[in-house]
Amino acid sequence: MKRRDFLKAAGIGGAAALVPGISRAAKAVDKPNIIFIMSDDHTSQAVGAYGSRLARLNPTPVIDTLAKEGMLFENAFCTNSICTPSRACIMTGQFSIKNGVLDLGGRLAPENQYLAIEMKKAGYQTAMVGKWHLKQEPNFDYYNVLPGQGSYHDPAFREKAEGKAFGKNVVKMKGHSSDCITDITLNWFKNIRDKSKPFFLMHHYKAPHDMFSNAKRYEKYLEDVDIPEPENLWKQPKFGSIATRGHNDELLPYIGTSIGRRNLRRNYTKSWAKDKSLSDTQAKRLAYNVYLKKYLRCVKGVDDNLKRLLAYLRKEGLMDSTVIIYTGDQGFMLGEHDYMDKRWMYDESHRMPFLIRYPKTIKPGSRSDAIVENVDYGPTMLDFAGVKTPDYMQGGSFKSICETGKEPAGWKQGAYYRYWMHMAHHDNPSHFGIRTKKFKLIFYYGCSSNGGNQTPPGWELYDLGKDRFEVNNVYDNPEYAEIVAALKGQLAALRKKYGDTDEKFPAMKKIVDEFWDYGPGARKRAIEISHDMLERKKKGSASRRKKKKK
Ligand code: CA
Repeated sequence: MKRRDFLKAAGIGGAAALVPGISRAAKAVDKPNIIFIMSDDHTSQAVGAYGSRLARLNPTPVIDTLAKEGMLFENAFCTNSICTPSRACIMTGQFSIKNGVLDLGGRLAPENQYLAIEMKKAGYQTAMVGKWHLKQEPNFDYYNVLPGQGSYHDPAFREKAEGKAFGKNVVKMKGHSSDCITDITLNWFKNIRDKSKPFFLMHHYKAPHDMFSNAKRYEKYLEDVDIPEPENLWKQPKFGSIATRGHNDELLPYIGTSIGRRNLRRNYTKSWAKDKSLSDTQAKRLAYNVYLKKYLRCVKGVDDNLKRLLAYLRKEGLMDSTVIIYTGDQGFMLGEHDYMDKRWMYDESHRMPFLIRYPKTIKPGSRSDAIVENVDYGPTMLDFAGVKTPDYMQGGSFKSICETGKEPAGWKQGAYYRYWMHMAHHDNPSHFGIRTKKFKLIFYYGCSSNGGNQTPPGWELYDLGKDRFEVNNVYDNPEYAEIVAALKGQLAALRKKYGDTDEKFPAMKKIVDEFWDYGPGARKRAIEISHDMLERKKKGSASRRKKKKK
């Protein structure tokens, strides 16, 4: 077969095939560039396109253009709502139990950074800029990343440099981190990018992670605005369970850090509404407003910086040959349920914003309610790059959903979730659960992985069709008995499928088994555990007070 005929038969026709030496470039053009933009803790309620109560503040006009010109996923979820684990899920296509990054202490070795490795194998030039948080050296052609959490102002970065070990390659910059990260990426485009190859760029902001600190130019943004409040900041009598409230609400002051004064150890009135003469309501309202303004000012800085990045892509003619994704590494509680931070399986923390723009194959202004998880992001991007999902990844590609709006046969109908850091930092008990399009079942087994530091085990079920803000736990409503049984079956099946069945943690496994059916004996025991915890907490506070006096 002549070369020309061979190329034709292989589907590589056209003028490029006729000119010797151009076929490699033509092939490269066939593969789209991919930019994965991720902010830290940017939740869907603070993305205008998601239409939450905050949408009327128009927090993200630039990010919203990706929804207008691409597809918005309504049901994108993280599998473990906290920074380092979520990033590891994206990078490996594996659930936490398989990639080993269960909590903030996790690390991801260069040889396990599969997404970057596979992209490189597929002929992509790879780059990672901004917040990395996986501790070990990024395995990319180019990187320039913040060490750990990094600083908001005048941040230091670690930039890849021949002969310099990771940690010794420090570059200091002046300005706000969102501005600096965008500058680094633009510099990479202008001076480092190899134009003969398609690129895979991960562009990650530190903002709007706490402790929130915006660039000075946003000091007055939203200054005179009363931030819309979620109803369940104030009132939610049927929300939660013994696991999150204690028996007869006795643990409300100890579980889940709060906006108002509820959590005694950690709440936002301690930072921003210290005046003791304020009523509880006044203090909570003030703390909420300060919290949301600080957060939204950081979000605004991200949005404005993306305007610069998108303008560059447009100017260089790269907009339509590039798959552009925007997401946050998890969701975030912005006062819903009187909670701050993430970690919870409640939707605001569990959901990730996920927007994808690629006009060649994705319809502008489209939306999908398909359930997709962060372990699916890697396989999907690899699919766009022409790479079949590697066997060792547990996630799957949803490229076809992006392109057709239809779920392929057998696509997942339930998202699996697990949070491991029992009672750390924000007083969240460990839990796992399943979320379908209609329901959410959460099991707070409530112990550390060695079975210690027990909090009362309990179950919660939310009927999302009737109760999208999850304020009515219907686990004990007999009308839902069959649904509970079916969801428990699905949950057990997912645990088995993903290898998350606690064989390595026998003491924890025993507790999970003991409270799985949740019969009268287990309920009685949960009440005892609630009382024990209350005693522990009271003793703890008394001894802290004593120490303080000394
Ligand atoms: Ca995060």
